[in-house]
Formats: sequence, C-alpha cells, structure tokens
Amino acid sequence: MKIALIGLGNMGLPMAANLLKAGHQVAGYDLLPGNCAKHAANGGRVATSVADAAGDAEVVVTMLPAGRHVESVFTGQGGVFDAVRGRTPLLIDSSTIDVATVRRLAAEAGAAGLDLLDAPVSGGVGGATAGTLTFMVGGTQGGFARAEPVLRAMGKTIIHAGASGAGQAAKACNNMMLAVNMIGVAEGFLLADKLGLDRQKLFDIASTATSQSWAMTSYCPAPGPVPAAPSNRGYAPGFATALMLKDLTLAQGAAEGAGAPTPLGSHAQRIYAAMAEAGESGQDFSVVFRWLAGQTRDEAV
Ligand code: NAD
Repeated sequence: MKIALIGLGNMGLPMAANLLKAGHQVAGYDLLPGNCAKHAANGGRVATSVADAAGDAEVVVTMLPAGRHVESVFTGQGGVFDAVRGRTPLLIDSSTIDVATVRRLAAEAGAAGLDLLDAPVSGGVGGATAGTLTFMVGGTQGGFARAEPVLRAMGKTIIHAGASGAGQAAKACNNMMLAVNMIGVAEGFLLADKLGLDRQKLFDIASTATSQSWAMTSYCPAPGPVPAAPSNRGYAPGFATALMLKDLTLAQGAAEGAGAPTPLGSHAQRIYAAMAEAGESGQDFSVVFRWLAGQTRDEAV
C-alpha cells in the first residue's frame, strides 16, 4: 500500500521502517531534515511537505508530539484534509493527544466522508523498533477493519477500544494507573530501605504476594532486583519523566472534563511535575524512587 507517515521522530521513524519491511511504500515527512535522511537511508521516500506525503496515500499515519501539532497537520493550509480532498484514504493518528481534539478532528473528517482513527501506542521506542507495539484504537468498526492489517506491521496487540476518542481514553487511563502504581512501588522499596529490610527479600516476597505488579516485577524502580530495569542503568529511559508528565496532564484534563474523581492521579501529576522541575525530565519515570529518596518526609507528602 501507499502509506504516508508524518512525524519521523523516536517512534515514527522505526514505525515507518517496519512498514517498509512489510513491503509498503512509505512517504515520510518531518520538519527535521536529519530525521528525513534516516527515513531515506531505510529505503523510504522523503516527501517535501505534508501535502506531498498525503497526496496519493491510501493510508495516512501521524506520529506527532502533541494535540496542537496534530491539529495543524490535519487542518492547516496544505494539511492532510486539504491534500486528500476528493479521495477517502484512511487517516490514523498514533500520537498521544487529548480526547477532545481527536474527537473534533474525527468529526471534521467524518463530515468529509473520511475515517480518522485515534490509535495511540504503548511499548515505547523498543516496541516501535521491534514491531511489537500495542495499539489502542478509537473509531468506527469499518475504519478499524481497514487499519488492522497496517497496524499489524508495526504492532503485536491491536485492540478496538470503542468509538472515536476511546483509544486516547484507554491510553490516559493506562498511564495514570501505571504512574500511581510506580510511585507506590517506589514508596514501598524506600520504606524497606529505611527499615533495614533487604530489597531482594522484599522483592521475593512482594512479587509473589498481593502487591505484585508490572512496575515491580518488570521495571523495579529500586536498583537491584530486576537487572534489566532502568534503575540499574542510572535511570536512562525507557519512558521519560517528561512523557509521563504529559500523559498525566492529559489524564487530569480528561478527568476534569468528565467529572471523574482521581485524587491519586492528580497527586501523581504533582509529583511528576516536581520531578521535572528538579531536572529529572529526561530520566526514566521510575526515577521517582531516587527522587523520593532525596526528599525529607515533610517535603514529599
Ligand atoms: P519525537 O519528538 O521524537 O517525534 C515527533 C516528530 O514530529 C519530531 O521529529 C518532529 O520534528 C515532528 N514534527 C513536529 N511537528 C511536525 C509537523 N508539523 N510536520 C512534520 N513533522 C513534525 O516524539 P516521539 O517520542 O516519536 O513521540 C511521538 C508521539 O508518540 C507523542 O505523542 C508521544 O507522547 C507518543 N509516545 C511516545 C513514546 C516514547 O516512548 N517515545 C511511547 C508511547 C507514545
């Protein structure tokens, strides 16, 4: 198929590479020439603009930083909506953005007879490179059926979460739960340290007991028990604190809009904001363990 991929950053570039490997023709576009050059080196066509990329595409995938970038790429002059007028390619936004923006864009697309799906991902750069991402998809059943074979070239788990916005809703809920969970594990291991309890002993007990979680068994924020975890390589990401803060902020925006009480989600956002302010933005989000260890009890509550 002819696929346009707009946004060839940390995630978009390896996603485009997997589409190429699956035999698709991929026209890539990014504002940064260096990223375009990497796409060319992978065997892709470099488009000269959004319109050039989307002009004859059967599927348009966007992988951009935030809602305002997605909005401008779709609705701006020379944007995707302009470029595909008179045709009905499938539109897939895989960026992590707010539910309201994607619903607005999907409605605008629908009025022009186009299907626009929200399909944010989980799995990070490692998953994007290995082609094992999880896609959580919001949109019509028909759109999902068209998207699935394309997404399959970039991911392993492809789930239709529901109508437009449901993919972004799933992403916001998942990452809010993850952040709360990660802070909880970090607090438990810190308390263990302070009580003189051996970390490995706590891990051996808790990882088979009722507090067992992915944050502990695959990604333990305290150095030691899980050798492959970022905590054992100086908290190099992984999934950066800045991205977790972005997702927690999106979750709080969604919770406010929906009137959902999320006291721990809100507290987690404040903790990640404080960590970012303290210079931890580029570190893996499990650095919350080290950050808490540097706080007094009064500072951190
Ligand atoms: P990134 O900043 O590395 O890449 C985004 C790219 O978009 C950049 O190369 C930028 O130049 C390009 N861009 C911005 N505006 C553009 C425009 N108008 N036209 C063309 N290109 C434009 O970000 P990333 O890490 O690849 O993340 C992309 C999205 O995926 C984000 O929404 C992020 O939250 C989400 N995400 C990231 C991860 C991760 O681990 N990096 C994991 C899951 C989800």
